[in-house]
Amino acid sequence: MHPFRYLRPESAAEAVAARGEDDETRYLAGGQSLLPALKLRLAHPSVLIDIARLPELRTLRRHQGGLEAGAALTHAEIAGLDDIPALAALAGSIGDLQIRNMGTLGGSLAHNDPASDHAAAVLGLGATVRTDRREIAADGFFLDMFETALEPDELIVSVNFPRPRRAGYAKVRNPASGYPVVGVFVAETDGGIRVAVTGAGGCVFRLPDFEAALADNFRPGALAGLATPVNGLNRDIHATAEYRAHLIGVLAGRAVERCR
Ligand SMILES: Cc1cc2nc3c(=O)[nH]c(=O)nc-3n(C[C@H](O)[C@H](O)[C@H](O)COP(=O)(O)OP(=O)(O)OC[C@H]3O[C@@H](n4cnc5c(N)ncnc54)[C@H](O)[C@@H]3O)c2cc1C
Repeated sequence: MHPFRYLRPESAAEAVAARGEDDETRYLAGGQSLLPALKLRLAHPSVLIDIARLPELRTLRRHQGGLEAGAALTHAEIAGLDDIPALAALAGSIGDLQIRNMGTLGGSLAHNDPASDHAAAVLGLGATVRTDRREIAADGFFLDMFETALEPDELIVSVNFPRPRRAGYAKVRNPASGYPVVGVFVAETDGGIRVAVTGAGGCVFRLPDFEAALADNFRPGALAGLATPVNGLNRDIHATAEYRAHLIGVLAGRAVERCR
């Protein structure tokens, strides 16, 4: 690892001021993606700003429409919330106990790994990402592999999850890491049916054909005959694009079955 300075600010405002425009400065939350990148020398920031204990990022607010969760809540803490069972189950499926006790909601979204579990819940539920300067709807947040709508110094403060009428998540885990080879989140929300897929493309994406079919008939059988184009899907040592396309159909059906 390259040497770096470590700062632990007292407030979100102080953290953003310390981050500034400097590309060599990075926020550090749970460290479960950033520290491996440092060890592999894929990233070499000169300053790390620890945001994991900032009070503004550790909040949890229940409101009539749903739940606003602080960005620094860990996967384990989200897994312990029973407000939105599909979200809790998804968070409980991430990695292993150590990863869940350290990794955070905000870190997972900012990192935007192509196989992020939380990205599927945020897009599937139509959540809103609140930062230190604005609100970003899920549909405009995830841009591409490891790329989001965030400005370099923008800090995710919380995520507002609307309570769905029903929702479910199904994934095939990579047995080594727990990351989804493919994961599908299905939700019936006040704004309609949403189907979000993670692990299969550059980043999480929605499936309009599946959403239309489920809007007509909310049963796994309604998805029979729908195929996901293989073009553009990930292919790697874990699965071919064809297998991922097949998994999307199977897992979407399972997610519908799990909806409650
Ligand atoms: C062995 C292993 C298995 C894993 N398995 C899974 C899995 O099954 N499913 C899954 O989804 N993930 C998995 N992960 C990733 C894990 O969920 C990470 O916790 C997550 O990707 C990053 O969160 P973090 O809090 O650790 O962020 P960090 O590593 O601290 O930061 C990641 C990036 O986000 C930025 N950042 C962090 N917080 C904020 C914020 N509030 N605002 C703006 N930028 C911010 C940082 O500057 C950095 O660039 C796994 C990781 C490992 C090492």
